[in-house]
Formats: sequence, C-alpha cells, structure tokens
Amino acid sequence: MSRSIDQTHDLSLRSWVESANQKDTDFPIQNLPFGVFRDRGSTQSPRIGVAIGDQILDLTSCYQSGLLQQLPEHLQAACTASNLNPLMALGSWASLALRTCLSQLLRSNGQKPSSEAKLLVPMVEAELLLPAKIGDYTDFYASIFHATNLGKLFRPDNPLLPNYKYVPIAYHGRASSIVASGTPIKRPQGQRKAPEDNVPSFGPSVLLDYEVEVGFLIGAGNELGEPISIDNAESHLFGLCLVNDWSARDIQAWEYQPLGPFLGKSFATTISPWVVTLEALAPFRCPAFSRSQEDPLPLPYLSSSINTRQGGIDLTVEVLLDSAQMREQGIEPFRLSHASFRQMYWTMAQMIAHQTSNGCNLHPGDLIASGTVSGAQEGSQGSLLEITRRGSQPIKLTTGEMRTFLADTDEVIIRGYCKNENYAKVGFGECQGIVLAAK
Ligand code: MN
Repeated sequence: MSRSIDQTHDLSLRSWVESANQKDTDFPIQNLPFGVFRDRGSTQSPRIGVAIGDQILDLTSCYQSGLLQQLPEHLQAACTASNLNPLMALGSWASLALRTCLSQLLRSNGQKPSSEAKLLVPMVEAELLLPAKIGDYTDFYASIFHATNLGKLFRPDNPLLPNYKYVPIAYHGRASSIVASGTPIKRPQGQRKAPEDNVPSFGPSVLLDYEVEVGFLIGAGNELGEPISIDNAESHLFGLCLVNDWSARDIQAWEYQPLGPFLGKSFATTISPWVVTLEALAPFRCPAFSRSQEDPLPLPYLSSSINTRQGGIDLTVEVLLDSAQMREQGIEPFRLSHASFRQMYWTMAQMIAHQTSNGCNLHPGDLIASGTVSGAQEGSQGSLLEITRRGSQPIKLTTGEMRTFLADTDEVIIRGYCKNENYAKVGFGECQGIVLAAK
C-alpha cells in the first residue's frame, strides 16, 4: 500500500556476510529486520541491531564508524537508542531511508567496511531483548475461521456472533507482561470452575494453551481525537513480529463474561525479537480476504479499493511443540499447525482504522496483534483449544505422548516466513517459550 518494491528487494543481491547468502536463511540482505540486543551474559545497555544471516549488524558501531553519515542527524541518533521507539516515531520515510542505506552497506559489490569485525555480533552470542518499549497492546480476533471454530465449541447452532462481519472485534491486552522470545512462562494460577463443580477453586491452570498471532508495531502515532483513515493506516505501521498469546482456558472460561478476557490472558504474551518492516514485506502483499457474496460490505470507514487489492500479506505461520521427551531423545519438534495470514477476515489497515475511529491515539511501539491465525482446513487451527476441540480429541505426538493442553516443560515454537519464486525469502525467526510449573 504505502511501500513499494525497489532495488533492495532484488533477488540477485548478495551480501559480504556469507551466511546471509545461504538458500533458506530467514535473514537474507532483502529482509533487514530490526531488533534490540546485548552481548549474552553482559549488563551492557541494549543496542539496536539488524539481523543478517546468522549475524547482527550493530547500528551503534555503524554510527561510530561513520557509516550512517548519509542519513539525517536525527535518524542517525535514533539508530543509537536503546530501543526502536525513536526510530518508529520518525515514520515510514525513516525506515525506508535506513533500509536503503543498510542494503548498500551490506552488499558484496559495495565497499566492504574495514571495521567489519566490530560491526557484527554473532547471533548465538547475543541476548535478544524486547525490540520496543510497548506502551499499549490490543489483541484482535480477525480470523473468521478461529472465531467460527471457537463459536462452534460454545454455540454449535450459531457459531458466529452477528457483529463479527461488521466490527473488527478486539480487547485491550496487558502490555507489562509482554516478554521477549525465550522467556520461560510460569503456569498461571487463578479461579477456575469445571462444569461438574458447583463453586470455583483457586489453583494452577489445567487448560494452558497458546495462540499463534501476527503482531504489528506502530510507527508514527496519531493525536488524540484524530482518527487514522484506512488509506493512511499503513503509514502508521513500522513492522511485524510473531506473537504467542498464552491463554489459560479454564481461567478465561470462568471470567470472560461480561467484560472479556482478563487474567486468563494477562500473565504473559511472547513476541519474536526481530521486527520485519513493511518495506521488507512489499513483495508479499496480496488481496484482502475475499468475502462471500452473502457477506455484508464493510462500512465505508473500513473500505478502500487499495485495501481490497493489496491489504493482505502472504505470510505463513507455523507452530511446533517440543516436549522434554523430544529434547531428551533428539526427536524433531512436532508441528501442530500451519496457516496463512492472508486468510484473515480483517486486514491490518482495517484494524488500525477501526481502533482509532473513535479518536483513540496510538503511540510509537504500541503492539496490535491480529488474533489467532487459523485457516479453514484441518491442520491450520492456531490453538490447542481448536485442535483438540476443547480437550475432547487429544493429539498424539511423535513420541507417543498425548496432549490436550500444554504440559509443564513443553516448549512452544512459532515460526513465520514469506516466500515466492520471484523474491528472496523473508523470515521472522522464532517466537518461543517453555512452560514452567506453577510453583
Ligand atoms: Mn489472542
């Protein structure tokens, strides 16, 4: 929409960072996602980096070596901050200018910097932190397949509520408990009431679940009282990451009426460390979900021809489960699902236009998550609640272990990538977390 394909997307580009030229890397020179890191085990202040192959290009070192001099001074300053917020606040011109500069800097036919060793940090030697200070977090419900799957479990005759095709449904999440990938997740305790019980009890959740989602991080914000129009929405978007919206289904089921999710969600949300910019995703734009003939048209503030033509992103997400037994026996993680983000009923632009339609303001670094990415087919459901039909159909893992919901020591790994034959793969890396016992 607001980003176009340019020479930074050229499939033939190669980098002097050799690992970036390997065929299936998530981080070729055409990607250039931003993150925040420090040397593993150190107490250094966090620095902004760019993933390139299996290395991180350290933007503070680039600045100190004078390699960013062609950029405006305030953009150079944003590159040396301890999080991405100042860069995000500058808006989409800044991420484009920086991308163009970094693409030239990393090209193998460009001038290889003499200070190369100082500029790169091997990813395995880095601790990847939250990329931004996230002030606010909204979680949408944009997959009609997820909404229908869930609705069927609770209201078999009438799975989809009447507002779904008009309103991009969401709730306000908790920003303080958003954690970086790799952070262990302690099983939450809370009130839950099994159907056969007369009264609730307090204790560890026994129905712990994940939700695979795509997150959007806001770039330039909007003033309070000034809605963002659908055609302007993407100019307020910096980039995308993967999200695991950990969910305690028993706590959620008991508390959610009448005001929606609360403690069943707010104990933790994991995001992947690398923010893939909208610039990097330009080659993978696709039409918005095509509504069936009987579906209502979105109201005018949620409608736009550009959005209909290319509001979607052809992004594949997959979820894997790695149990303690798999790790001990050296068995590959078990794939639970894979689905495409292009199947979402509402686009990113529609979600942003809707969220700000009442005048609500967004700030740089705010996180908006899409809601669980589920598709129509078997194998594309993005939560255990859907896969096991609320626990009634356990799944058998490759080790022979059975699961309805997550067990302590289970690790959930989310991956995401965009791929087509004309462009280099743009990967998101991993969003992972291991479940620890409640006590
Ligand atoms: Mn969710």
